[in-house]
Amino acid sequence: MTRDHQFAGLRASELYCPRCRTARPVRERLLLVLPRGELHEYRCAVCGESLGTRTVTVPVSLQTAPVPPPGMGPGSRRRRPSPGRLQ
Ligand SMILES: [Zn+2]
Repeated sequence: MTRDHQFAGLRASELYCPRCRTARPVRERLLLVLPRGELHEYRCAVCGESLGTRTVTVPVSLQTAPVPPPGMGPGSRRRRPSPGRLQ
């Protein structure tokens, strides 16, 4: 993939569209919701050409990651079968 545009921390209101061959206003569209943020896609507002994506990371304080309490996990009491009778 050679058209991998990354806009880290850059809010672009206009981007160069290769199909229109000029700078066009872009539409930002939520493409994917990732565990650590959201993947937004920029599309040309005129022709709809995909101009790139941007990952918007969610601050840690806003994440609702379930943290299991220590000692209560399913693996705290596991039986490990012996690989065989080697004695
Ligand atoms: Zn365009």
